Order: sequence, then structure tokens, then C-alpha cells
Amino acid sequence: MRIILIGPPGAGKGTQCQRLVEHLRVPHLSTGEMLRAAVRSATPEGVQASKYMEQGQLVPDELIVGMVTKRLEAPDCRKGYLLDGFPRTLPQAATLDELLERRAMSVDGVIELAVPRDELIRRMLARKRADDNPEIFSKRIASFEIQTAPLLDYYGRQGKLASIDGLGTADEIFERVQTALRRFARAAGRR
Ligand code: AMP
Repeated sequence: MRIILIGPPGAGKGTQCQRLVEHLRVPHLSTGEMLRAAVRSATPEGVQASKYMEQGQLVPDELIVGMVTKRLEAPDCRKGYLLDGFPRTLPQAATLDELLERRAMSVDGVIELAVPRDELIRRMLARKRADDNPEIFSKRIASFEIQTAPLLDYYGRQGKLASIDGLGTADEIFERVQTALRRFARAAGRR
């Protein structure tokens, strides 16, 4: 299955992604992780990306699309994958759709982990990680609301969106995730 997980910073995507990839036995493609690795090894992409990441801004679409396109061609992606952190803008989503269409494929489903903004801020303050500078964190939330939230409508119109309440225990949330997966599997069977 080709699944996308979308959620604002602090929504608990990491925990659910871990469970999802174990459950689905597909690779976890986190663009944030790919970029952090590129920054650590100081590749040209990493050097370019770091100035945006430090500011809590999205890196340019071209840069991220190039990285993801290459990754999706790897043999381990043939059986499906979980995309985490990509797509994050409408142009990224359109590029992904085109890329898949050329191979007669499509996204099977998109899961939104919905958490109210107050709760995100509360969690961030409770966590107080070194990289959780409140100002940068607010910028990342704003970037989610402005650039990424329109994707919910985009996938909703394709009938592929499952919005899940991101409040509760990890187990409760994963139950909801599994319900969404069953729905995606039924829809894929009808296509
Ligand atoms: P994440 O770990 O997914 O929150 O990503 C960390 C940072 O990497 C983000 O704040 C962005 O600067 C950058 N990033 C990750 N994925 C993307 C993407 N699809 N488009 C643009 N920037 C991204």
C-alpha cells in the first residue's frame, strides 16, 4: 500500500509511523529524516536545505521532489511505502500524482492526524527539546496551516482522506489508523 500520513508538528506522527510500517511491512519514507541526514553529511542538498530548516520554513519544492523521486525508484518501494512529511505543498502533491500516474499507480490513502493548535503548543512546552524553540515551532505550525492544510481538501476531493482524532493514547490512535487502512483496502478493491 502507498499511504501518506499528514499532521502538524507535534501531532504524534513519529509514533504512529513506527507502528504503521511494522504493521504494513513497507519502508518509512520521512523527508525530514532524509533532509537531516543530508545536513549531517553536508551534501549540496543538505547545505541548501539547512538554512530553511533552521528557520522553521519548508525547503524549496524542487529540492525535495528530486530527493523523493530518487528514493521512490529504489527496489524496496515496489511493494508500497509510508510517506511521512511529503507531500507538504499542493505542487508536491500534484508532482507525486503525476509521477505515480506515469507508472499506472496511485496513492491508496491519506491519513490526517488532527490535533488542535492549543494542544500542540501544550505538548511542545511540556517536551522542551533543544530544537523546540517556541518561535520556530509556531512558524512550523503556521507553515502547516498555510501550505500543507490545503492538501487535506485536495485528497478529500479524491475520496482518499481519512481524518483521525489525534487525541488519546497511542493505542487508541493506532486503532483509528487501522480502521482507516481497512477503508483504503476496500476502496482499492473497488478500483
Ligand atoms: P519534519 O521532520 O517532517 O518536520 O521535517 C523537518 C523540516 O524539514 C521541515 O520543517 C522542513 O524545513 C523540511 N521538510 C521536510 N519535508 C519537507 C517537504 N516535503 N517540503 C519542504 N520541506 C520539508
